[in-house]
Amino acid sequence: MELPKSSLCTGCGACVSACVTGALVLTRDTCGFLHPVVNSSLCSDCQRCEKVCPLCTFAETTGVFKLYAAKAADKAIVEASSSGGAFSVLSEYVLQNGGVVFGAGFDEGFNVCHIKIDKKEDLKLIRGSKYVQSQFLLAAQKAADELKNGKIVLFSGTPCQIAALKNITDNINTGTLYTVDFICHGVSSPLLFEKYRDFISKGRKFKSISFRDKTEGWHVYSLKAEFTDGTSYRKNITEDPYLLSFVTNISLRSSCNNCAFTGLKRVSDITLGDAWNDSPSKKELCDGRGLSLVLINTEKGNVLYSNVKDKLISEALSPEVLKRNKPLNVPTKVNPLKDRFYKDMYRLEFDRLISKYCGLSLAAKIRRVSANKLYRWKKH
Ligand SMILES: Cc1cc2nc3c(=O)[nH]c(=O)nc-3n(C[C@H](O)[C@H](O)[C@H](O)COP(=O)(O)OP(=O)(O)OC[C@H]3O[C@@H](n4cnc5c(N)ncnc54)[C@H](O)[C@@H]3O)c2cc1C
Ligand code: SF4
Ligand code: SF4
Repeated sequence: MELPKSSLCTGCGACVSACVTGALVLTRDTCGFLHPVVNSSLCSDCQRCEKVCPLCTFAETTGVFKLYAAKAADKAIVEASSSGGAFSVLSEYVLQNGGVVFGAGFDEGFNVCHIKIDKKEDLKLIRGSKYVQSQFLLAAQKAADELKNGKIVLFSGTPCQIAALKNITDNINTGTLYTVDFICHGVSSPLLFEKYRDFISKGRKFKSISFRDKTEGWHVYSLKAEFTDGTSYRKNITEDPYLLSFVTNISLRSSCNNCAFTGLKRVSDITLGDAWNDSPSKKELCDGRGLSLVLINTEKGNVLYSNVKDKLISEALSPEVLKRNKPLNVPTKVNPLKDRFYKDMYRLEFDRLISKYCGLSLAAKIRRVSANKLYRWKKH
């Protein structure tokens, strides 16, 4: 069997779920990302793992055919969502029609993982972007079971997760499956997030974590955590060490720098994003509280969107908007200091780690500029 090289592997685990001899297990690498590891003595070379791996084969849609800027008409949804809350509106519709929704939430220890929701009141558990790679495989297997039972399923995740889900559910009649992905900058390591949680909690127990708190607005979002003792933590994107590591690309999985799912031929029925730079003419869409970019990629996605239009304030956009959206068209750039950063993660305090690699000090800036120059020189 031949699986993709480790720098391309997205860690979805589809190969593990396809393996009937137990030869593959998902194991954390030194950065804290999951990778399949093979026990060759158990491998029968059946090649099922290769067939299901989304990097070996995945089904693209024909491409974006409608494009909107949209936000939920319900202001409370917009405030609680990362962009305009389109995801919640689509999910509510599926739940109202007896379906279930899978999305990224937290487990009891505040590790990010995909969970199933079957009632509207629980949607808050999966609302909002989490800038950590989510544990996905168990939920994908549960979604496959739901589909076998004829349930309507909306599954939301990164493009690579949706590609994997489609392969995992390939032999099932997926007429009742709706997939929603997003324009994806990349994901950070669950181990790095564990270290960050220890750093900010100082022994307190978490009650909630939001990566996109809008206290200072949608553009200057914050990471906010609440603790069970009534205290809280909040720092905005220019100050919080975890957000800084995410936006400087230093903590991203290697597959994100080579992402096979970037581009206009999407894998999902609907792709969501932040409509940061798009200027719709409707005034109520431009209040600085969040606006979703909605890419309709399939007829199924089109029907779903048409069914929720009365719950959204929405405006059609020109396809030109897509050309300007960098993360939609090109994979996120490598940060050449990434390997050193992850080595230092084991010996430095979280704040020292971030100020060394992502900070604003002269030393940190010089380190970044020289690493970039060296990287470009080596590449050419
Ligand atoms: C890691 C990550 C990177 C992103 N990068 C970009 C970008 O570069 N450009 C851009 O325009 N938009 C990006 N987005 C998408 C954007 O932030 C919003 O999530 C999207 O616009 C949907 O917003 P919403 O308000 O409709 O719904 P929300 O309620 O904010 O979206 C929630 C849904 O997103 C999914 N989700 C959240 N975190 C994860 C995760 N870790 N893994 C898998 N699925 C997850 C969940 O299933 C969740 O239920 C990113 C999101 C994430 C999670
Ligand atoms: S991308 Fe997924 S299926 Fe392919 S090797 Fe990696 S974990 Fe396995
Ligand atoms: S950037 Fe690509 S590889 Fe990385 S999480 Fe997003 S879809 Fe997956």
